[in-house]
Amino acid sequence: MKIAFFDTKPYDKEAFLNQKPSDMDFKFFDTKLSLDTVSLAAGYDAVCIFVNDDANAEVIDKLYSEGIKLIALRCAGYNNVDVKHAFNKVHVCHVPAYSPYAVAEHAAAMMLTSNRRIHKAYNRTKEFNFSLSGLTGFDLHGKTVGVIGTGKIGKIFANICKGFSMRVLGYDMYPDKDLGIEYVSLDELFKQSDIISLHCPLTNETRHIINRDSTDKMKKGVSIINTSRGGLIDAEALLEAIKERKVGAACLDVYEEEADIFFEDKSGHILDDDVLARLISMPNVIVTSHQAFLTSEALSNIAEVTIQNIRSFFEGDGALQNELCYRCGNIEHCKKGRKEKCF
Ligand code: NAD
Repeated sequence: MKIAFFDTKPYDKEAFLNQKPSDMDFKFFDTKLSLDTVSLAAGYDAVCIFVNDDANAEVIDKLYSEGIKLIALRCAGYNNVDVKHAFNKVHVCHVPAYSPYAVAEHAAAMMLTSNRRIHKAYNRTKEFNFSLSGLTGFDLHGKTVGVIGTGKIGKIFANICKGFSMRVLGYDMYPDKDLGIEYVSLDELFKQSDIISLHCPLTNETRHIINRDSTDKMKKGVSIINTSRGGLIDAEALLEAIKERKVGAACLDVYEEEADIFFEDKSGHILDDDVLARLISMPNVIVTSHQAFLTSEALSNIAEVTIQNIRSFFEGDGALQNELCYRCGNIEHCKKGRKEKCF
C-alpha cells in the first residue's frame, strides 16, 4: 500500500512514522494537494490529505485517471473534498473523532484568554509592565453561551461551560435531549448569548452563518469564538461589527482565506490579506492558526485511525467504517446499517 501524504508538517510525519506498519509505504509531500500538484500522486494507491488540501472535482478526476482509489482525510471536516463528485470514482474516508476534547478545550482556552485579557497581560509582564488598566474582564458565571452545532465537540464545549455555571443555549438540527441544555432557534441564540461558539460543519447552509444580519441581531459586546471552519464567518462583516463596537471580542482559530497563510511562518513577509491583518491588529481579536486539534493525543489518534481506515479499505471486504458515503445523497446520515463500501 503506497500512500502519498500532502501538506505534511514535522508533527504529522512524526505521528505517522511512529505507527507505520511495515507493509505500507509513506511518501510525505510538503505541498498541498491541488490541480497543480495532483500529478505527484501518480503511482500511489491512496492520498492522505488535511484541511487545506483541495480535492475539488478536477483534482478528483485526475486522481481517478491515475488509478488512485482512496482519499484518506486525516481530519474530521471534509468541506475541501467534493464528496458528491467522488462518488463512483474515488472512495473518501475521514477521522470522525480524534480528540473532540482538544478542539473544545481550545475554544474554552480562547474564551478565557480573551475575556481575562491574558494575551495582553502576558506581553505586559514580559516588559515588566504591571499595570492593570484595560484588563477588566467579566465573570463567566451566570453568563449565557450559545453553542451552534452540538455534535461531538459542541457537546464537550457545552459541558465545559456548564462547569463555569454558565447558561448554555444550543442550536442544532438534531438536538440532544440528554445534554441538559436549552435548544432555541438561531435568532433566539443570537439575541440572548453573551458568547457564541461555532461547532457546526461548513456546508452550503452554514456558510457565513455569522454575517451582517446575524451580528445585527446579537447583544452589544458579544464574543464570537470560531474553532470550526473559517467559512462560517463573513470576515468582512465581522470586522465591521467589531469596528462599530457591536462585537466585543472575536476568537478565531480558523479563517475563510486561511489556506495559503495558516500553518506557515509568514513573519518577515507582507500579509496581503487586509481583512486578516486588520482583524489581527485589533486588541479584542485573538487569532490562532488552526491549532485547536494540536494535542499529542489527537495526533496519535489521527495517525492510528487513518492507518486503520487505509488498511480496512484495501484489505477489508465489508463496509469502510469511516467512509464519507454519498450513495443516498446524504453524507452525514447514510451510514447506518451499511454492510459494504459506498460503491
Ligand atoms: P459532529 O459531526 O460531531 O457535529 C457537528 C454538529 O453540527 C452535528 O450535531 C450536526 O447536526 C450539527 N449541524 C450540522 N449542520 C448544522 C446547521 N446548519 N446548524 C446547526 N448545526 C448543524 O462534528 P464535530 O466532531 O463536533 O466537529 C465540528 C466541526 O469542528 C467540524 O465540522 C470541523 O469543521 C471542526 N473541527 C475543527 C478543528 C480545528 O482544529 N479547528 C478540528 C476538528 C474539527
